Amino acid sequence: MQFKDFGLDQRLMSTIEHLGFVEPTEIQQKAIPAAMTGQDLIASSKTGSGKTLAFIIPAMQRLIRNRSLSKRDPRVVILMPTRELAKQVFTQLRLFTAGTQFQAVLILGGENFNDQVKTLHKDPHFIVATPGRLADHLSQGHFYLNGLELLILDEADRMLDLGFSKQLKQINDAADHRKRQTLMFSATLDHAQVNEFALALLKKPKRIAIGAAHTEHKDITKRFYLCDHLDHKQALLDHFLKTEKYQQVIVFTATRSDTERLATLLSDQGLSAVALSGELSQSQRNKIMDGFSKGQQKILITTDLASRGLDLINVSHVFNFDMPKHTEEFVHRIGRTGRAGSTGDAISFVGPKDWLSFKNVEGFLQQSFKFDVVDNLKGKFKGIKPKKENVVAKKKASSPAKDQNKKTQPRKVVKRTFVSHDAGDMPMLRKKTTLPINEIDKDVDLEID
Ligand code: ADP
Ligand code: MG
Repeated sequence: MQFKDFGLDQRLMSTIEHLGFVEPTEIQQKAIPAAMTGQDLIASSKTGSGKTLAFIIPAMQRLIRNRSLSKRDPRVVILMPTRELAKQVFTQLRLFTAGTQFQAVLILGGENFNDQVKTLHKDPHFIVATPGRLADHLSQGHFYLNGLELLILDEADRMLDLGFSKQLKQINDAADHRKRQTLMFSATLDHAQVNEFALALLKKPKRIAIGAAHTEHKDITKRFYLCDHLDHKQALLDHFLKTEKYQQVIVFTATRSDTERLATLLSDQGLSAVALSGELSQSQRNKIMDGFSKGQQKILITTDLASRGLDLINVSHVFNFDMPKHTEEFVHRIGRTGRAGSTGDAISFVGPKDWLSFKNVEGFLQQSFKFDVVDNLKGKFKGIKPKKENVVAKKKASSPAKDQNKKTQPRKVVKRTFVSHDAGDMPMLRKKTTLPINEIDKDVDLEID
């Protein structure tokens, strides 16, 4: 099948040809014609499989072919969880709008609010945005959505994870009319929270799933290494950065402070490394991403801020220096490599604090993984036995008399509040962690970007 078989408008077809795309990917083959019928979609396919064009192409087709419902309101709104991803999609969209009468604008948190008000007053046809900031503008009446034809939620599950359901509903409600179409995309859409949300927002959505979220990504080779402690992880990272043939590398850590620390450590060794975290100003973030995407640095050290959607074709290796707190982020993090048919390596370090997260990933992917070893860097940690055995072993070891006197103290649960620096500068709520409270890594600041 080829793009020309979709019956697209000739101008749109010329753009696709000009960009060098000939054959649609599997998700594009299914999602483009389905979206062109006007129905709502919940579409999932693996990372790097071309989901962006699967919504940009039908959106362009709709704008070219259909009459607008209103003179002033935006016709298409595309929402994304992070500013970096929104910028990337905006860049791609601009390749399609260039040379047409359609104007596209980018509205992100962390950027000048008043400039955005002026931009919105120019009545753009497309808005690409992070939900927090866009909802702010909507609340203040800087634009209206009565004429919105197409609402696209990319990485929809992540936006819900980050606590944006209220803003998404607000945007949805402002555009609640019969002709509105909604498209949801992600590599991981099959969980209950998304379903509930989709039911509320979407009208009889068609589900398109190319493989399940746990389907093995054949282009990404996964390796796991047991680690004793931080120094051990660092030694392993050093080892791989010396021995692996890499083009560019992304290293994911659990905390913002570790991104800086590791970047300094690697830079001191003469490696070309840079840290990206939500703590930085937007202009610093832009500079870092621009530099890294141009290949000015070889190693990007970051948090789950960069786990979603970023399409950096030279990333050959992804390291999970720490395993992710949210299980599905594993799929997204490793999906920064092995994109559009190229291959990649994902190397994960599993220490005592990562163990539960590792087991959750095994459960999610419905696989059990073997550990590899580096000869001179073997550790002592062999994993943690399942809870039941631990309890039995402990009972045997302790004296019965002592047990009778001992009263179990209820655990104190320390409430943390999170303040985000991303996705529209609003406080974000992390959905209830899947980890039991006693397993949460207390040394680590849980981070949300
Ligand atoms: P996803 O959103 O599924 O992770 P992207 O939309 O970011 O994937 O696309 C991944 C890469 O594949 C991008 O570099 C994009 O240009 C490329 N791509 C998309 N569609 C096609 C196609 N039909 N043929 C070849 N390359 C494609
Ligand atoms: Mg994507």
